[in-house]
Amino acid sequence: MRVFNFSAGPAVLPEPVLSQAAAEMLDWHGSGMSVMEMSHRGKEFISIADKAEADLRTLLAVPSNYKVLFLQGGAIAENAIVPMNLLRGRTTADYVNTGEWSKKSIKEAKKYCTVHIAASAEDKDFTYVPAQSAWKPSQDPAYLHVCTNETIAGVEYQWTPDTGDIPLVADMSSHILSRPVDVARFGVIYGGAQKNMGPAGLTLVIVRDDLLDRALPITPSAFHWSEQAAADSMLNTPPTYAIYIAGLVFEWLLAQGGLAVIEQRNIAKSALLYDYLDRTSFYRSAVRCEDRSRMNVTFRLADEAQDDAFLKGAGQRGMVQLKGHRAVGGIRASIYNAMPMAGVEALVAYMREFEQRHG
Ligand code: PMP
Repeated sequence: MRVFNFSAGPAVLPEPVLSQAAAEMLDWHGSGMSVMEMSHRGKEFISIADKAEADLRTLLAVPSNYKVLFLQGGAIAENAIVPMNLLRGRTTADYVNTGEWSKKSIKEAKKYCTVHIAASAEDKDFTYVPAQSAWKPSQDPAYLHVCTNETIAGVEYQWTPDTGDIPLVADMSSHILSRPVDVARFGVIYGGAQKNMGPAGLTLVIVRDDLLDRALPITPSAFHWSEQAAADSMLNTPPTYAIYIAGLVFEWLLAQGGLAVIEQRNIAKSALLYDYLDRTSFYRSAVRCEDRSRMNVTFRLADEAQDDAFLKGAGQRGMVQLKGHRAVGGIRASIYNAMPMAGVEALVAYMREFEQRHG
């Protein structure tokens, strides 16, 4: 029996994707082998990678002057790869600090450049996104970095920053493909796959062509965007099986009607949870209403001593991975694209039941 898996990542994947992968495990399309066993340079795998890229471009309406790269290393590696690829000729980069993942990006960037904090939500314990009017960019930074969905606290940009000529770089790991985005507003978009795209091991980078000539000479080839772009992301062996599964997820998203349809579902799913949280004092959500994440819904029980009982009861009802991140505690329900409405309904019903018994 499958559970409702509320993990923040690696996370739930669409069941039809897993079934298809299982059916194709031993013999992909008459090739007589598993995708895992294919040469990344063979025509079968090239066709898989090409289709995955084409479908992703369709889903996000990626303009033709952007490269799509399928790399390794995850978003944490990208925190170093971003400055290495963008700093040539400049020594400062701007960061907006909205929480734990922003902090990790900042810490890493400091190894390569002077980091200027253009805005920070630390004054209110990272429960909101600072309004753009309060941002103070530096003079001529190489780029400005944001984390558009802070997975740990559950804080999401519901708007796109406008940084003018400063290239806008976004870590979208935990909400990419959950809603349409205007890619043209960004210089670079990156994210690990293991939330909304597929298995861990694949890192997506979408980069505007004119930013491909700014890498520091120390940039490792495997992480050098223009070298990887020239090699169609195959300068090294790419994470082939993860690309294949992500490709199946992209097909599934297109079959659902694309990101506008998915967004409406995500609005409905998260609203069900937040509406309930707003009607009770037994559970509390700390995040400012207009900045609440549709993907990672965080809340606390009024009496935190009941957290363990809450999590145990959820597990007995087939709802798992609801424990908040160790950095902040509390409860976190990650409700990515592949989480069905039924999972959210089951969670709210259980929350109500628990409140009635313990409230
Ligand atoms: N950024 C965000 C927003 C994340 O949610 C995560 C993973 N939870 C990371 C970065 C780090 O990703 P990885 O572990 O794949 O390096």
